[in-house]
Amino acid sequence: MTRYIFITGGVVSSLGKGIAAASLGAILESRGLAVTLLKLDPYINVDPGTMNPLQHGEVFVTEDGAETDLDLGHYERFVQTRMRRENNFTAGQIYESVLRKERRGAYLGKTVQVIPHITHEIQTFIERGVQAAKALPDIAIVEIGGTVGDIESLPFLEAARQMRLRLGQRQACFVHLTLVPYLPASSELKTKPTQHSVQKLREIGISPHALLCRADRDIPDEERAKISLFANVPQDAVISVRDVDNIYTIPHMLHAQGLDDLLCAELDLTPPPADLSVWTRMVDALEHPRRRAVIGLVGKYVDSAESYQSLVEALKHASIHTLTQVEIEYIDSEAIEQNGLSALDALDAILVPGGFGARGVEGKIAAIQYAREAKIPYLGICLGMQLAVIEFARHVVGLAHANSTEFDPATPYPVVALITEWCDRAGAVEKRSAHSNLGGTMRLGAQRAPVKAGTRAARMYGASVNERHRHRFEVNGRFVPQLEAHGMIISAATPKDQLPEMVELTETLHPWFIGVQFHPEFASTPRAGHPLFNRFVEAALQHQRARQLPAPAPLKMCHG
Ligand code: GLN
Repeated sequence: MTRYIFITGGVVSSLGKGIAAASLGAILESRGLAVTLLKLDPYINVDPGTMNPLQHGEVFVTEDGAETDLDLGHYERFVQTRMRRENNFTAGQIYESVLRKERRGAYLGKTVQVIPHITHEIQTFIERGVQAAKALPDIAIVEIGGTVGDIESLPFLEAARQMRLRLGQRQACFVHLTLVPYLPASSELKTKPTQHSVQKLREIGISPHALLCRADRDIPDEERAKISLFANVPQDAVISVRDVDNIYTIPHMLHAQGLDDLLCAELDLTPPPADLSVWTRMVDALEHPRRRAVIGLVGKYVDSAESYQSLVEALKHASIHTLTQVEIEYIDSEAIEQNGLSALDALDAILVPGGFGARGVEGKIAAIQYAREAKIPYLGICLGMQLAVIEFARHVVGLAHANSTEFDPATPYPVVALITEWCDRAGAVEKRSAHSNLGGTMRLGAQRAPVKAGTRAARMYGASVNERHRHRFEVNGRFVPQLEAHGMIISAATPKDQLPEMVELTETLHPWFIGVQFHPEFASTPRAGHPLFNRFVEAALQHQRARQLPAPAPLKMCHG
């Protein structure tokens, strides 16, 4: 039977509950337990698909095509279980489901209430998430979003309390993550907010079995004793979680303080000891790089690394696997539009990530043109590939004002468009696509496509590629012959509709220029890394070396 560990948060939000939950998952997995993780989001939106990345961070896409909370990305990076649609749900989904049942008459005329109907639905959704795992997990770590004390979190906490009551004491336990702030004025770590947030939990009938106390430093025994006394938690269950530069050190930090032993004892489990040697090796590689590369990320959310969370992590994974300190320089594409390209001068490589909407697009196109002409390694992801095609169409093929219909519906050359739009404008090849149900809707999740032999893509992926998508627009098949005639290779395309999935420039045109319609960053893990990001960093290093070499002396002509 699956045991549950509920993770709650107190005092403030953004304490890193997701990373703490994922790190705990990693330790338990290393002890031979099958682990899954769930994220419960108390907001009303049905999913984060339409939420602003600046407010909510990146939207993580699962293999089965769900748009989910970015914590699911942390889960997949820390444990080996793949997340599915059912691993994340929101209050919106719970209410939607309850309301649908109510309209069907499923409640037989009863008054439908938060308790028991909403709380019961939450428990059903939790169990559904656990059953979605390929093999029934030994442990499900259930992270409850929001902060204890929020009105909207209450039904979720209540559902967790009820669940433990129903399943039995040894079947479920609670871990609470709090903040212990340091006040410079009095040179003290303050435990009162933690005391209060645990009191708040106990008011609703939840007594945590362990406290993870975030602080900017180690929490000394004296403060831990105080927290233990006031929060009614044994002192060895007051775990100090200090700020770190490298999140992949957290499994070690938690294990060193005995968190996994404590929870296993609570849940009556006696698994073999933890083996964190893979994490030791990864941390060691990250902390001892042999070289350094600077990658320019040209985007519009430059103030929020969380908007590009998986991408930032994927580059970190490439750091591990190429022993390179990869530094990301965030470059605002709108600033390029205003101030020109000087910000791109000292870069070893350029990356344009996914994005939606017209703002900053021309700046990104200018950056891509610069990367292509100056032969700087370029990786374009999703929008970054579409813009690379637009740039190539405008400046190499000579199609002035080529664009995506997302940004210019009246463009004379819609080299990127909705499938339904090219059907309206063109002939036979496009007609075939009219039967595709992709047009105008989001293409989501993992899809397999064959890769053209002999390409750079084939060297990285082999005969086929199976990566996750999140986009509406496609490179317009009608323009493919012209793109190819000028040296752009379509190195992978969907089997049915021939939609370009990967593009690259011939080696005579550019040493390393690749665009991908999918999001490789969602599949990168610190253990395995990802060939596309590893090769990209290697290309950056090569460019850096080539740039540092002195220019060859001019040939002297000898006249005899
Ligand atoms: N806006 C583009 C589209 O919808 C690209 C999306 C993305 O980069 N994720 O196709």
